[in-house]
Amino acid sequence: MSHEGIRFISAEEAALAAAQENNRPPANAVTPLKVRVKKSEGSGVEIDWRDGHKSSWDFRWLRDACPCATCNAERETTGRAPGESKPKSKDPFALYQAPPRPDEVTPVGKYALSFKWNDGHQSGIYSWTYLRSVCQCPVCTAPRSI
Ligand SMILES: [Zn+2]
Ligand SMILES: [Zn+2]
Repeated sequence: MSHEGIRFISAEEAALAAAQENNRPPANAVTPLKVRVKKSEGSGVEIDWRDGHKSSWDFRWLRDACPCATCNAERETTGRAPGESKPKSKDPFALYQAPPRPDEVTPVGKYALSFKWNDGHQSGIYSWTYLRSVCQCPVCTAPRSI
């Protein structure tokens, strides 16, 4: 008998998976108190959460973290993390691309923001839960000890 193909997961992995299944983030952590979209400055989005946490992202990051199905699939095949820039095109004839910024930012119900980007893309719905999960502050981006 061979154990080939069977993968044993460690207790830590199992605990982590269970926590991800059961521990939905507390409501306060995914409810924004204040949302500032710095569209005219072209800088990005800042959110103050009800639990006191603060998050901010620049527009390029948000564009590269678009959570729509197409961008998700594209990131999966290229192994990019949300917000990670695409590798620069080596094509000398590639058109200059203006830095990403939204032409329009619209609230979606009470749970999300939708961006109409200057490259025409607009299918991503950035829910509060998603945004909180990709918070870029030093605390949230600190490497986790395993
Ligand atoms: Zn997208
Ligand atoms: Zn954070």
